[in-house]
Amino acid sequence: MMRGLLAFVVLIGIVLGKETFEGHQVLRIVPKDDFQLSAIKKLEDMMEVEVDFWREVSDVNTPVDVRVSVHSLPSVKMYLKTQNIKYSIMIKDLQAMLDEEQEEMKSAACVSELRNTDKFVYSRYHTLSEIYSFQDMLVAENPKLVSKIVIGPSFEGRPLNILKFSTGGTNRPAIWIDTGIHSREWVTQASGTWFAKKIVTDYGRDPSLTAILNKMDIFLEIVTNPDGFAYTHSNDRLWRKTRKPNPGTTCVGVDPNRNWDAGFGGPGSSNDPCLQTYRGPRANSESEVRSIVTFVKSHNNFKAFISIHSYSQLLLYPFGFTPMPISNRAELNTLAQRAVTDLASLYGTQYRFGSVIDTIYQASGGSIDWAYTQGIRYSYTFELRDTGRFGFLLPADQIIPTARETWLALMTIMDHTLKNPY
Ligand SMILES: [Zn+2]
Repeated sequence: MMRGLLAFVVLIGIVLGKETFEGHQVLRIVPKDDFQLSAIKKLEDMMEVEVDFWREVSDVNTPVDVRVSVHSLPSVKMYLKTQNIKYSIMIKDLQAMLDEEQEEMKSAACVSELRNTDKFVYSRYHTLSEIYSFQDMLVAENPKLVSKIVIGPSFEGRPLNILKFSTGGTNRPAIWIDTGIHSREWVTQASGTWFAKKIVTDYGRDPSLTAILNKMDIFLEIVTNPDGFAYTHSNDRLWRKTRKPNPGTTCVGVDPNRNWDAGFGGPGSSNDPCLQTYRGPRANSESEVRSIVTFVKSHNNFKAFISIHSYSQLLLYPFGFTPMPISNRAELNTLAQRAVTDLASLYGTQYRFGSVIDTIYQASGGSIDWAYTQGIRYSYTFELRDTGRFGFLLPADQIIPTARETWLALMTIMDHTLKNPY
């Protein structure tokens, strides 16, 4: 019976074209010297192996996490062995972990939670349509505080929704927060949903947030890459990019965090449409990026721009595309230090912080570099939990703790933005 059921599930999977990760492993590789560093980098360009870097190659002694397909495992392991590079297995069977996540989501399927945002289950992962419903419920319940703005269609025609939290005024100084620009980073969209509820709950109760909203507006885009997000549910849980086809190849999608007009095309972005960091044919080629650019420029009064990713537990500021330090580096560094200290005060979660290029690697065409070059002086990227035990497949019982601790850091940054106008 069990076997029959399993065969049935596999069959359904094949019929619906859902990607399976049976036997795929995530390897952690720690390069010991520059020679090993470049040997690991080479893996990405090897045509014959299927690898997906979960944590990109950064520096000596900094771990690299890479998913290797079941077919490529023997050759990749052999390659590492011949290069004398040590690795450990972080995830032994990826599909087993994905099955667990699916089971948990199914057990949560419950219509009543879509009646209002109090009943919404924040400790679960949700589909795109559930998050869209959540947004509409939140607006309907708090019409004086929250409104929904559609800033554009995605490539596949889905609405790019942002929630505006405002207590009045016109064109007030504003804070931008986005989650889920990389669709597989599920804890970020889930945290964004929790933040939205937190804002309406705390306004009028928490003096710091109330002070912020009495002077400033908060704009929150929860599902910044809806095509990718829908695809992570329907076809491939580990999809990162947009879903726009690339002419001349069967490889689909652009990395929407290499597509911004800041050092576009430079190191730390790829011109190969088949790679995860493919930058696209030109800056702003992706509707998901261009719509934000147009909106932020036309509003013309953003003071903070915060892009939320996972995973690695990092708080980063510009630049990524150049080693040139930003002009208020000391201020952003001190503020980052305070923010990660506040974050850690809740559960002890440790974050590293610094500029993108110094802390992880050179990356060109990133959103916060663009925001900073637009004059938005408080620009940050978060990489939320964890440090690799589960990676993108963070168990749902960590959603609320992750959102809660991150909120403390967000409040620190927003409070500083309020108190240090420019
Ligand atoms: Zn990301």
